[in-house]
Amino acid sequence: MADANPGGADNFDVVILGAGSGGYACALRAAQLGLSVALVEKDKVGGTCLHVGCIPTKALLHAAEVADSTRESEQFGVNATLEGIDMAGVNKYKDGVVTRLHKGLTGLVKGRGITVVEGEGRLVAHDTVEVDGRRVVGRNVVLASGSYSKVLPGIEVDGERVLTSDHALSLDRVPTSVVVLGGGVIGCEFASVWRSFGAEVTIVEALPRLVPAEDEASSKALERAFRKRRIGFRTGTPFTSVERTDDGVRVTVEGGETIEAEILLVAVGRGPRTEGLGYDEQGITLERGFVLADERCRTNVEGVFAVGDIVPGLQLAHRGFAQGVFVAEEIAGLSPTPVDEAGIPRVTYSDPEVASVGLNEAAAVEQYGADRVESLTYDLGGNGKSQILRTQGFVKLVRRKDGPVIGVHMVGARVGELIGEAQLIYSWEGYAEDVAPLVHAHPTQNEALGEAHLALAGKPLHAHS
Ligand SMILES: Cc1cc2nc3c(=O)[nH]c(=O)nc-3n(C[C@H](O)[C@H](O)[C@H](O)COP(=O)(O)OP(=O)(O)OC[C@H]3O[C@@H](n4cnc5c(N)ncnc54)[C@H](O)[C@@H]3O)c2cc1C
Repeated sequence: MADANPGGADNFDVVILGAGSGGYACALRAAQLGLSVALVEKDKVGGTCLHVGCIPTKALLHAAEVADSTRESEQFGVNATLEGIDMAGVNKYKDGVVTRLHKGLTGLVKGRGITVVEGEGRLVAHDTVEVDGRRVVGRNVVLASGSYSKVLPGIEVDGERVLTSDHALSLDRVPTSVVVLGGGVIGCEFASVWRSFGAEVTIVEALPRLVPAEDEASSKALERAFRKRRIGFRTGTPFTSVERTDDGVRVTVEGGETIEAEILLVAVGRGPRTEGLGYDEQGITLERGFVLADERCRTNVEGVFAVGDIVPGLQLAHRGFAQGVFVAEEIAGLSPTPVDEAGIPRVTYSDPEVASVGLNEAAAVEQYGADRVESLTYDLGGNGKSQILRTQGFVKLVRRKDGPVIGVHMVGARVGELIGEAQLIYSWEGYAEDVAPLVHAHPTQNEALGEAHLALAGKPLHAHS
């Protein structure tokens, strides 16, 4: 392997601790910019996203969509019967996708001359990561050690009856019934998959609504769709306890109601993986375990950066990619523009999907005042392609009065694929009047974005004025 390390055996321009989305993106860009890079990883390059996160869950969701299409084929005049779900087959498909991508990524890392140091790393000086006794020194150090599934006090995860998402991804059967603890992105995605596979599903969420970080209208639409799919949920209902029964679990929620199921999935968020890694000993400022970093991803210690899930904010792979690339460019002296946290698109890939970028209406009102903000909702009922797909939902735009669009919120099958255009509109501070004249191909779901902007610009086409 070409080892681009002119500085000497274990001296590098950049040492990165953790090869997940944030860490490997930083490594790839830094190497591209001619810097020598050491990438320390104790497990597999690719991290959570590739191995136990984004990619395998989306493969499961695609298999779930195939199951639903088969089950509902008659609606489209196609005679097909869903005979069952072969989890061994589903897992083979999912694992095949992960393996191919892992192989590709490993090749990419190797091809760029990045030195991968395998093993558990620990920050032992502001410029040194120690791995199995080997000291890897960097002019700059990037902390990218990622996150783990959190568990509530009193819950004992055994991987059989009480699972985290890691276990749920390698389940060898479709459970007959599941309680999903947590109605955020991960909880809703698994609930959606299991329902499509035929399980009875109940989500328990302490906050008042599903996907509580989204615009209230999106939560309402998702809840309506889940109700139709007979996915049960209790919102505003904190979990109290779980006990094992002969054939599963009994979950008790506040108020005393009990729900029995074969398994419990704990999806209550992810905590930063920072404990025992030497960060605090080296004087890095932590808050509730998260590494505090400024908008240039700098920690309080000179030469030490932090990216990805260990930094407070959205725990998303593409945020990690963006921060990793940013840090590489910063180290190379390119003075890149900081990542705009509100401009990071968010997608929940359940059926239906929920996608958004920018501010939700409540946040916009808080920031600018109710009299300075307005919103418009375009119903997918007027969108031909959405009707062909038989999906319901909307595109909701939030704008500053007489100003640019500052938030786009969408619900419906496949709307995650529309978030790219929404992101450009948000990031380029587009006005409805700028977007309205842009021609959208017909019939596409993208048209719904165009139509929403036409309506906001005062000239609705396929919408009641
Ligand atoms: C079920 C699930 C679904 C998800 N779906 C999506 C999605 O659809 N879209 C999306 O954008 N995000 C999704 N995410 C979130 C996404 O996976 C994370 O935001 C992303 O992986 C964070 O990247 P990271 O680099 O910060 O950390 P990680 O990907 O967690 O990588 C950290 C790496 O550091 C390594 N490491 C840790 N400590 C050490 C050490 N001491 N020594 C050596 N190596 C170490 C770990 O082994 C790991 O490989 C999902 C997450 C989960 C759990």
